[in-house]
Amino acid sequence: MRRKYPVQITFWGVRGSVTSHDPKNFKHGGHTACVSFYYHKKWFVLDAGTGIRNLGKKLAKTRRPIVLLLSHLHWDHVFGLPFFKPLYQRGRKIILAGPSRANHSFRKTLNEAMRPPFFPIRTNQWRARIRWQTLKQKPIPLDGVIVEPRRVAHHNGTFGFRFVFPDGRKIIYVTDQELRPADKKFARWIEGADLLIHDSQYDRKTYAKRKGWGHSCFEIVLTMAMDAKVKRLLLFHHDPDANDKTLGKRLLLCRQRIKARRSSLKCSMAKEGWSLVV
Ligand SMILES: [Zn+2]
Ligand SMILES: [Zn+2]
Repeated sequence: MRRKYPVQITFWGVRGSVTSHDPKNFKHGGHTACVSFYYHKKWFVLDAGTGIRNLGKKLAKTRRPIVLLLSHLHWDHVFGLPFFKPLYQRGRKIILAGPSRANHSFRKTLNEAMRPPFFPIRTNQWRARIRWQTLKQKPIPLDGVIVEPRRVAHHNGTFGFRFVFPDGRKIIYVTDQELRPADKKFARWIEGADLLIHDSQYDRKTYAKRKGWGHSCFEIVLTMAMDAKVKRLLLFHHDPDANDKTLGKRLLLCRQRIKARRSSLKCSMAKEGWSLVV
């Protein structure tokens, strides 16, 4: 049995679709998707929503390599990218991986957005030593941890990521996905996960009006997580219109359901600035 290193996961942005800074959202935060963890002398960064700017200030003070994985290229997941300080540090080692479009590589696809007149700085002005990687549904072994990208039910070729650690621990990040209860393959993929971070943008009423928009009803996510014996569920990618009070009520409902089913699932709402150890 290999030694178990604790993995601390930190949320830098938890909103979906667009930033939502408002006093009524203060508790959960208004920045869009960005999550980090540190493992085996590397920083792992998941998505580059506006939350990545604050993470970048912290990482700029270190010299460890960074693995930056972009689930997809919708604005709420890349808007913070040009404000990520380590990209401008000469010689900083960064693996930058994301999806491609049609026959283009990931690099070419991203370059279409990161150029004038959309933004004044092009990616070739970044000073870091970047290894570009186009994501495929193929595991990426990285010094012990294996990153398993998987296509999920969202628009424009979105990936979810499963991180498998040498001791068997599994952390899964699926930021944008319209989860259907009948998706048995996905249920198997998340089975027994130590942590599942999943899109939970809508409640049942809103979801009924927004089917096909690519986001999940949190009740469907909760049920599948219980069925699949996930140990811990973090509801993520909150609707910009769901304020602290609304999210608090959703969490209460989840905990009632868990209790009623006598499930051992731990369920929380992802909050900006919050960390947990797996
Ligand atoms: Zn999104
Ligand atoms: Zn999206």
